[in-house]
Amino acid sequence: MSTFNSADIAAFNGGVWVFCEQRQGTMMPTSFELISEGRKLADELGTKLYGILLGHNIEGIAKELGGYGADGVYVCDHPLLENYTTDGYTKVICDVIEEYKPEMMLIGATNIGRDLGPRCAARLHTGLCADCTHLDVDMGIYKDFLREASTLPAEKIDGLNTAMVLGEKHDVSRDLKMTRPAFGGHLMASIICPRFRPAMATVRPGVMKKAPFDQAKADACEIIKPNFSLTEADMQTQVIEVVKAAKKLVDLIGADVVVSVGRGISKDVEGGIKLAEELAEVLGGVVGGSRATIDSGWLSADHQVGQTGKTVHPKIYVALGISGAIQHKAGMQDSECIIAVNKNENAPIFEIADYGICGDLFKVTPMLIEAIKAAKA
Ligand code: FAD
Repeated sequence: MSTFNSADIAAFNGGVWVFCEQRQGTMMPTSFELISEGRKLADELGTKLYGILLGHNIEGIAKELGGYGADGVYVCDHPLLENYTTDGYTKVICDVIEEYKPEMMLIGATNIGRDLGPRCAARLHTGLCADCTHLDVDMGIYKDFLREASTLPAEKIDGLNTAMVLGEKHDVSRDLKMTRPAFGGHLMASIICPRFRPAMATVRPGVMKKAPFDQAKADACEIIKPNFSLTEADMQTQVIEVVKAAKKLVDLIGADVVVSVGRGISKDVEGGIKLAEELAEVLGGVVGGSRATIDSGWLSADHQVGQTGKTVHPKIYVALGISGAIQHKAGMQDSECIIAVNKNENAPIFEIADYGICGDLFKVTPMLIEAIKAAKA
């Protein structure tokens, strides 16, 4: 595979794109989060922000994306796109990208996004950084600036990789800086994709904050219906039936209050979980857990908070018997108010707690529950 030359890179000037995931006609929350984040990137780059929405009979939900910041939405409507398939979605997204050439593309790191992103990146011969937790723009020296500020002929500027500005050498670039945890969360790696386009990133659901909705912007959002071809011959799989999970999964990401338990409940697991449930109930929240509680089979995997679980930023996060390992903190440290109960005064969770209670969770939690009930009465 050869790298793109600078003219190829420059041709990818179709703005910042966000893959907007919908299921059965309902937009996934991550689509709104990524549109909100994409807006910031597009503003910094001085370009437009577009969503790309695939499905069947989905045009009615497209304009809502404008309310969170999209200038327009590419709506790809086709009966064969009614249910997600890797082949169908990849074919259509790649066709549309090749025609409209976005410079960067964000995808939610949901189950679908984790499947779709790498397929598209491989087919487009570009780079993808998976599971990002932070995005930035790395402007280096942008060529438009050079075109205005220097006397060099335009063809020369197109071919430049570096430029001297005020006696210093700078890269001539305009890159998406994609940051994700590496080496088990011990360091954060910032990655750029300077030689291919579009630069692609999958982003963890719940990490980016949703902007306030603006109806006027939703009304102004442009709907674009791109040309693409899709036939049954393009699909190697056929969806026969969609069966929803029988058990309702806990909605950690959308919760205002999360009460999480850790290995500290080990002396009475059932009792510890019951206390967490009671505390969550009086606070109007849901129960989460550290990986230790998932690995031990005390809670199901949808409860896990942390680097390999969910990222949450509720108004209140209560950590009961959780030490505060770096991988756990990665999923909850942006909570507005953190309350930690731990019998070890040196537990790392206290470093980020707004309120720390040093004590036995089996004694402290019932007192908290009673106090909250009394305050409410
Ligand atoms: P422990 O570290 O064992 O802590 C238990 C705490 O309970 C201690 O601080 C103890 O003082 C306290 N305690 C004990 N009894 C009581 C009591 N009666 N009252 C009050 N306090 C008490 N972890 C995650 O949580 N989420 C992740 O997503 C995640 N991803 C990982 C990814 C990788 C690649 C790796 C290597 C690890 C990951 N981990 C993750 C694991 C992480 O490193 C820790 O092992 C885990 O978070 C520890 O869970 P814990 O705090 O419940 O248990």
